Amino acid sequence: MKYVFGPISSKRLGQSLGVDLLPPKSCTWNCIYCQLGKTKKYVTERQEFFPREEILNEIRQTLALNQPLDWITFVGSGETMLYKGIGWLIAEVKKLTTVPVAVITNGSLLSLPEYREELLLADAVLPSLNAGSAALHDRICRQASAFTFQQHVDGLVAFRREYHGRLWIEVMLLGGINDSDEALHDLGTVLKQINPDMVHLVLPTRPAPEQEIRLPSDERIERAIAILSAAATVVNPLKGNMDLRNAPDKLEAITAIVSRHPVQQRELHKAIADCFPAESEKADAIMQELLASERFNCVEHNGEPYWVMKVEVN
Ligand code: SF4
Repeated sequence: MKYVFGPISSKRLGQSLGVDLLPPKSCTWNCIYCQLGKTKKYVTERQEFFPREEILNEIRQTLALNQPLDWITFVGSGETMLYKGIGWLIAEVKKLTTVPVAVITNGSLLSLPEYREELLLADAVLPSLNAGSAALHDRICRQASAFTFQQHVDGLVAFRREYHGRLWIEVMLLGGINDSDEALHDLGTVLKQINPDMVHLVLPTRPAPEQEIRLPSDERIERAIAILSAAATVVNPLKGNMDLRNAPDKLEAITAIVSRHPVQQRELHKAIADCFPAESEKADAIMQELLASERFNCVEHNGEPYWVMKVEVN
């Protein structure tokens, strides 16, 4: 499969089938924590990067496998809304299945009414907001020059007014960067203006190849939950867990997942072990084989080993 990957199991979206609409890396931002590496060239113009019918066919074929799914999630190796035709794809997927559709986006294009309209059929939209001030937003997201913090906030506020699905704002909490009381109060003020259904606090648990990013302390995470809860229900930052049991080709599924984001070694080991509950030694042997395949590297981040792709994908 070229566009469809998973299903991946996560605490936030359950069994989620991913659909990647972009060539890596196509983004309007260059976040300091981006796990895809540096944005070498900003992309700000929408394009139909791949034929929409090809993408829809893959989704159709995957749905025919009748795997248990909680969500179909449009994500991208960059900013999902850059795919021209996302509105059409959402509408076509809704004709094929009752599985709800989620869109993960940085939200930078939501200031444009015609783009917002394309997302109205989605069941959940998860845009990013990492700061409540222009200075901190610019420092973290390093957006292309055509974009501003105020435009980003205005887009989110307008989208909330028009959109009746679930609006879940993702906040990446970075140790020593946006976890001070002042930064959190600024963020809470902006979140109140937007009025999302929930705030998903996420942590930089995956390596950011470009620079060293620190996890916030437990005390700062608790403080963030306390402060931001005044604006919306805050989902605790929980680590996702992979589920490979229904993947027809496990190596292909692992490659698809690791090529999009690094995966904690123990999470990968557990996912493989869950596939062979009666053979306790098998996961170790498969992990050794996978490493010997020279596709993956094991790197350390905050004392945890992670798997990343050996070949640069962006
Ligand atoms: S918006 Fe997402 S893909 Fe784009 S730079 Fe930020 S983290 Fe990376």
